[in-house]
Amino acid sequence: MTKKTKIVNGKLEVPNKPTIPFIEGDGIGKDITGPSQRVIDAAVFKAYGNSKKIEWKEVFAGEKAFHETGTYLPDETVKAFKEYLIGIKGPLQTPVGGGMRSLNVALRQILDLYVCVRPVRWFKGVPSPIRYPSMVDMHIFRENTEDIYAGIEYMVGEEKNKKFREFLVNEMGVDKIRFPESSSFGIKPISKEGSERLTRAAIKYAIKRELPSVTIVHKGNIMKFTEGAFKNWSYDLAEKEFGEQTFTWRQLEEIKKDKGQLDADKALEEAKKSGKVIVKDCITDAFLQESLLHPWDHSVIATMNLNGDYVSDQLAAMVGGIGISPGANINYKSGYAIFEATHGTAPNIAGTGKANPGSLILSAVMMLEYMGWTDAAEYVYDAMEHVFAKRKVTSDLHAQMEGATLLTTSEFADAIIKNMH
Ligand code: NAD
Repeated sequence: MTKKTKIVNGKLEVPNKPTIPFIEGDGIGKDITGPSQRVIDAAVFKAYGNSKKIEWKEVFAGEKAFHETGTYLPDETVKAFKEYLIGIKGPLQTPVGGGMRSLNVALRQILDLYVCVRPVRWFKGVPSPIRYPSMVDMHIFRENTEDIYAGIEYMVGEEKNKKFREFLVNEMGVDKIRFPESSSFGIKPISKEGSERLTRAAIKYAIKRELPSVTIVHKGNIMKFTEGAFKNWSYDLAEKEFGEQTFTWRQLEEIKKDKGQLDADKALEEAKKSGKVIVKDCITDAFLQESLLHPWDHSVIATMNLNGDYVSDQLAAMVGGIGISPGANINYKSGYAIFEATHGTAPNIAGTGKANPGSLILSAVMMLEYMGWTDAAEYVYDAMEHVFAKRKVTSDLHAQMEGATLLTTSEFADAIIKNMH
């Protein structure tokens, strides 16, 4: 029987015993991978007995790959993700200010995983710095292949930098570079196609899950032709492709201009009552404050790569931190998907048993949902809720919870398995 997941007529077909490639990852990757797989295997067994099972297949990237094969991202690894469609990974180290480019970014670009989905929900009992964490139910859709992450940068002092600067100054008439001789440059490509496919995925997700709104987060007041264009293309797409199911703030503005505030308010209320997804927008800096003060006003968040990176960590901190925040990188057309812990390699705690495996476990739960194995996913969510309610946590949360029981990475995974009822 085949062990390969496939896309057939635009739909995912998952065999009962699929092979899932996984990258252990650097730093705490080794600590969290085994325990996470144990939790997922237990949930799948609980839900389906022996009729379904994941066949884990290790593939290499990062330090481990370098030791095994002499390269940080071997071709076999990329081939395995392409062959089996769905995979999962631990964190991979990226040097700052030089050295190799991010392997995470490379994987996203090679497989064109254009959406990074990060659901942000609160588990009862988990310490939070905000007053109403139970009101947090946000779903970040971060564009994953464009923006400054394209890696088009020219370091000051290098020949290409000089060429680029001369082009800007001589050909394009740019006279606003404050210190031209000592400037490095980075390029920010934002395309119509890229913006549209991201926003399309965000709106479809909101409709499918009956979520109330999509907020387009952008800094279009300053970056008019990149982030501003993203906002406009997103609104255009919502109105063109989802006219029946959405109501946009741009339409609201039109009504306000033509008929006045009262009619606009009425139209908005009617749209909400009829279950339409409200598509709105917010400037990034304001959003960072807004999401802290009024998290209940935001549901799905559609944004570009860099904004999405910043927003993800802030929202994660609101519900217990990056140690329990999951993520997935998906191409909804090809079906390719890599699920991953959102945190980094945490070298300061690697090998100490302090790492929280929650982020990787919940990423694997997203993977189960993507595969349609939702009963197994529910077992993990429920069990995790029970463990947090019993105040049993790893060291990242223990420090903030009075009277909590401190568990190691492995013990936390065992506690989840024990609480699968
Ligand atoms: P980090 O996420 O590794 O660590 C930030 C802080 O959070 C540290 O104090 C760490 O101990 C803590 N932390 C992180 N994960 C935790 C967990 N599961 N349980 C408990 N505490 C946890 O971020 P960083 O220090 O900025 O980055 C370290 C390396 O990781 C860098 O090389 C960076 O490029 C890489 N990184 C990789 C990814 C990825 O693979 N997707 C994401 C972010 C950073």
